[in-house]
Amino acid sequence: MRNQNSLSQNIMWEATTTCNSAYDGVFFYAVKTTGIFCRPSCKSRVPNRENISFYSNAANARKAGYRPCKRCRPDLKSIITYDPLEIVIEETMQIIEEKYGQKILLDELASMVGISLII
Ligand SMILES: [Zn+2]
Repeated sequence: MRNQNSLSQNIMWEATTTCNSAYDGVFFYAVKTTGIFCRPSCKSRVPNRENISFYSNAANARKAGYRPCKRCRPDLKSIITYDPLEIVIEETMQIIEEKYGQKILLDELASMVGISLII
């Protein structure tokens, strides 16, 4: 998997100027002059390189004082990384934690998180 730490500034700049959606979620770029941060695939006009800084995640860009772009919504989980199963797993783990020590049937657990169990 691609990792922001292993990406050079040149690669990130290249991905930004070409609106390369393959890098969405891998890094974000923030624009000093507008105070906004974007996904690499954003179709907004690419600013001058000297005004750009790169962040590995949206939280860091926000911490640095940037607002998410209204166009590419870098504050939302991208469709590429959105995994419905991930949410089911998270909910399941939460229920198990809450009901720890109680007896739960697997099909009860399944219906609690909104999936049906086929055995
Ligand atoms: Zn944008």
